[in-house]
Amino acid sequence: MLMLNCGVALNMGAARLDGRACAAALEEELLKRISACAVTPHLAVVIVGDDPASHVYVNNKVKTCNRLGIKSTHIELSAETSEEELRETIQNLNSQDDLHGILIQSPLPDHMDEESITDMIDPAKDVDGFHPTNLGRLVQGRTDGMLPCTPSGVMEMLKFAGVNLSGKKAVVVGRSRIVGMPQALLLAAKGADATVTIVHSRTADAQAECLAADVIVAAVGRPEMIKADWVKPGAVVVDVGINRVDDPTRERGWRLAGDVDPGVSEVASLLSPVPGGVGPMTIAMLMANTVTAAESQHY
Ligand code: NAP
Repeated sequence: MLMLNCGVALNMGAARLDGRACAAALEEELLKRISACAVTPHLAVVIVGDDPASHVYVNNKVKTCNRLGIKSTHIELSAETSEEELRETIQNLNSQDDLHGILIQSPLPDHMDEESITDMIDPAKDVDGFHPTNLGRLVQGRTDGMLPCTPSGVMEMLKFAGVNLSGKKAVVVGRSRIVGMPQALLLAAKGADATVTIVHSRTADAQAECLAADVIVAAVGRPEMIKADWVKPGAVVVDVGINRVDDPTRERGWRLAGDVDPGVSEVASLLSPVPGGVGPMTIAMLMANTVTAAESQHY
């Protein structure tokens, strides 16, 4: 938003909160750390079942490992795998000294309890940052450990764009264990210092909460829910959402949509695109956690 001398606000459209550029800068730093590391960082990615989107995510993670010189072990288990077999696989990975990070791709088949499976991962190898030990450290304000990749990627993006959060009012839409709740903790943590409101499905007036925000992080899983008239002029908006919506104009019949309506770009000062915003940062932070795990297990 440009303020003219006469006091009239002229909206030039939101600038892009560029996740790809931020991820590329982070990868440059990681390459230096990897070459200085006493061992080759090694990540195991376990996928159970044949969900096509999950396979795309896993392939992207493996490709990024290859690009950076991180060793990866890709374990594919059938949808019929028993929980006991998956537990044995994790125990085996926990015990391998030359393996530093373990990622279990979500979602797991319905017959498995995702939370108790996560609890089994050695916290030092929990590169997703979902183990209670790592989430507990975050609650204590200790942000130097394994942080969940998507919310910590959002923090890096905001830093990269020079957004000062101190004293600002931030609203996180969503309170999930993997995105919304850790996002709120990171925004409120010492050093970031935002004043945070968490909006969820029982919030009385989500629009009013968002309208009061200087920074909105949308992690709700509802396509284009955050509309332009939910956003204060000049606010910074981060769109975490990745939703498939029908689109008969595309050959494949669908397109990706975020949780933020594209019209928000007329109001916000900064807006992250989907794709090309938070997605690349999530993978970059997974790589960063893997390198951190290798460094801390071998120094
Ligand atoms: P989730 O577990 O389904 O959580 C959604 C949250 O949104 C819940 O806390 C829910 O509230 C809240 N919610 C639902 N409807 C609402 C409404 N009408 N008003 C206000 N709050 C509402 O989803 P998630 O795993 O956090 O993921 C959120 C989005 O991020 C999805 O689109 C997902 O695909 C995307 N995602 C992207 C990345 C990435 O790398 N870019 C990574 C992870 C997730 P209740 O708690 O009250 O039910």
